[in-house]
Formats: sequence, C-alpha cells, structure tokens
Amino acid sequence: MRDLNEKCAVFGIFNAPEIASRQAYFGLFALQHRGQEQTGIATTDGKKIFSYKNSGLVSQVYTEEILKKLVGSSAIGHNRYSTSRGSTTDHAQPTIINNTVAFAHNGNLPSTKALLEFLKKNKISTEENSDSELMAKAIGFYMKKGKSLPEAVTLSYPLFTGAFSCVALSHKELVAFRDPRGIRPLVIGKNGKETIVASETCAFRAIGADLLREVLPGEMITISKNGIKSKILARAEPKFDIFEFVYFSRHDCTVLGKSVYQVRKNFGKMLFEEHPKIKIDIVVPVPETSIPSAIGYSQASGVPLELALNKNRYIHRTFIEPAQTGRDEKLKMKLSVLRSVVKGKRVGIIDDSVVRGTTSKPIVKMLFDAGAKEVHFMVASAPVKFPDFYGIDTPKQENLIASQKTIKEICKFIGATSLSYLSVDGMVKATGLPKKVFCLSAFNGEYPLPIFEHEKEIKYDSLKFKD
Ligand code: AMP
Repeated sequence: MRDLNEKCAVFGIFNAPEIASRQAYFGLFALQHRGQEQTGIATTDGKKIFSYKNSGLVSQVYTEEILKKLVGSSAIGHNRYSTSRGSTTDHAQPTIINNTVAFAHNGNLPSTKALLEFLKKNKISTEENSDSELMAKAIGFYMKKGKSLPEAVTLSYPLFTGAFSCVALSHKELVAFRDPRGIRPLVIGKNGKETIVASETCAFRAIGADLLREVLPGEMITISKNGIKSKILARAEPKFDIFEFVYFSRHDCTVLGKSVYQVRKNFGKMLFEEHPKIKIDIVVPVPETSIPSAIGYSQASGVPLELALNKNRYIHRTFIEPAQTGRDEKLKMKLSVLRSVVKGKRVGIIDDSVVRGTTSKPIVKMLFDAGAKEVHFMVASAPVKFPDFYGIDTPKQENLIASQKTIKEICKFIGATSLSYLSVDGMVKATGLPKKVFCLSAFNGEYPLPIFEHEKEIKYDSLKFKD
C-alpha cells in the first residue's frame, strides 16, 4: 500500500573551496525533516564530479572520510523520500550524467509523457528511471551536444510538466530553477563569497548564510564565477503548496516572506474564532508541528496550554518507513500522555492535519485511557479530501478519511467528543496572503497543474459539498 511520505529537500553551494561538501552536509542536516530515506551529495573540482549516496539519515550516512573524498568548491545535495518509483537506493539523488552534470529535484511530474517521447526519440534509455532521472537525462543530452548547463536547462524546461524545484551542477556553474507555479519552495542565500540554494531558509542559518530571496516561479538562477544571473523561463503563475505552512516546513523558516511559526499560530487563532463554542479546560498540541497552533489557540481563547503529550525526541516523524506495519506500536513509542495533567479534564487536542485518521484515533484513546473527561479534536487545517501529485506520496483518495466520511462520521471513527477543522478560507486568511497564490488541491481538488492520467483516479462526488 502507498503510504504518506514527505517531500524532498535540495541544497546547492557555489564557491566554497575546501568546505563545499561539509557545508552541504550541514545544510542537508537542517533539511532532514523533508526526507529521511536517502541522502546524497555531489561535488565538483571543475574537472570531475564526485558523489556519495546512501540510505539513512544525514547524520548516519556521512563520515569525515566520505566528506573529505567529496572534493571541490561547489556541491549539491538531496534528501529523499520516495515520491515515485519505490524506495530503493537506486533512485537516490543527485543523479549524475556522464561526469557532466549532477542534478537534484524536489517535486513530482504527474506525467512524464513528453520527456519519455523526447528521450526515446533521441535513443536514450528510459527504463526503470524516476521522473527526476529522466529530467537529468534530458539536461545531459543537451550538454553532450555542447550546450552549457543553463542552455541545457532552458531547452529541457518545456519537457518538465509538473512540480519541480531543482538544483544542477556542472563543472562551471550551479543552476537552480522552479516550475512556473512554484509549488515547492526554493530560496537563495549568501555567506560571504559563497552562494547557496536550498529548499528552506533553515539550511542557511545552519551554515551562517543569509537569505537573499526566493527563486521565483518560472525562474532559473545561474551561479558562476561571473556572479548570479536570473533568466525567466516561463511566465509565473504562483500556486505555492499551502501544505508547506501546515506541516512540511520547519517553523523557524520564512516562506513567501511569512514566518511559518507566525502562520501556524494564526491557524490556531482562526481555529478558535471559527469554533468559539467548544468548552475545554486545557489545550494540548500533538508534538511537534502543531505546537505553534496550540499556542495561537491558547492566546486567542485564554484556555491554558499544557504539554500533556510527550514526544520521545529520538523517534523521528512517524512516517519514516513506507510500510504501514507497526504504525500503532510506533506511535506508542513516540507519544506518551501525562496522566496527572489530563485526568478529569475536558481536553482540546490540536493536530496540524488529519490525513488517514490513523494517528488521531490512538491519540484520542490514549487520552481517554489516561482519564480525560472529554477529548475535543481540533485540526489546524481543512479536511484533506484529495491526493497530491506534486511531490508528496499521499495515499490514494479512498484512504483519505475526509473523502470517505463526513466530519460527524470521522469524529465517531476516531472516538472523540467533538471534531473541528479549520476552513480553507480560514487557512488562507491565517497566511495573510491572497488565496490565488496557493495550491489548495489537497483540500478543494483544484489542481493548478494538469495531472493528466491521474484525473481518472479522482472522485469529485457529493461528499465534497456536504461538510
Ligand atoms: P494520519 O494519521 O494519516 O491522519 O496523518 C496525520 C498526521 O500525520 C498528523 O499528525 C500530521 O502531523 C502528519 N502528517 C501530515 N501530513 C504528512 C505528510 N505528508 N508526511 C508525514 N506526516 C504527515
């Protein structure tokens, strides 16, 4: 069965003599939350591309020895959670093509038809390739023909039909580019002479760099010894995935000029404003993503915040493995309830999202078992009714609980006293940005980029209009 996975992280650094691979290591370490299955770094000394990729967490995969062998003053790196083609190390990134280019991608191409046709026409094998590898091959094809990396990206760009925030490294240049909707994040920063590109701003702070700006949707940035150049490859139609605010991004990051922490606090405030009648004695976050929302709720409502769910800090996000087996057991290892805090109380529990409902159900039970009088489950985002095709490997639609059940039915299923969600408009309002800049497809089924053959997997039935 497909599971709910995280998106990937990309990182790139130019002009960091002696320390490029180390800086990439620290950057990827800061971006660990975006992908925990595999990690890879590729560097260049201007003549040769060196790389190392393996399965596991950043801190486990690399050693001093390995980093020393990754020589050169420029590097790119990737943390991966399989969004396509399974989870073997075969598809770990960066992808290297003929000692010419190293390439790393965050996102997903819902259809690779155009790319496949192009590669086949040019007699390039495509068997068993992930969407990211096909993209790398197209760029490599043009470079083999004598094009520079930015020229090769410009020529291949129309073949990339989907969501992508990418970094690519040649012997001379580091290139970063985003799809015209800018569905996945990508930022550019500076640290003295070093120029850095990363999925999120937290990677900059890890190495002492400062944010310059975002790579714009539809933009390609070329970093070379001649400086930083920008080229617009397609007209921007920004549709940033609001799920980055809900769950993915680290709360110490800035996205679209907004503090993720502040936006999450606003989600909590809006949750209270939209459901003012819920009577609770304490508000408890499900650690850790929803902590800012619980703070926001507490500040808006005056209900005391209690950290009555304790997370074992050595367990990473529950979704590490793609297989469902043992999830409940893992949740128990991950979370424990402070009985004395919840006993006899009307508990308001806040989670950032409910996807399958498989996390919420055991949490509600744990709270009742610990003596809670009532458990009011409050979700700091809207019901997830539609699968994602842009870089999160969400379950099929039939496994998204809100596409199958009404809110009342979900409440019964998870065993809570009440269940409330934030509205889509409430989420948008909390960001302080206009609705039109967001991809809200998980919540409203409006896919801003064609999803091609996946269209037939989606049901837009009456449930969408019930709640
Ligand atoms: P579920 O148990 O399927 O309802 O998933 C909801 C829980 O998973 C919430 O506690 C979220 O914090 C977390 N979550 C939401 N989206 C994702 C995702 N794409 N990857 C991993 N965890 C997620």
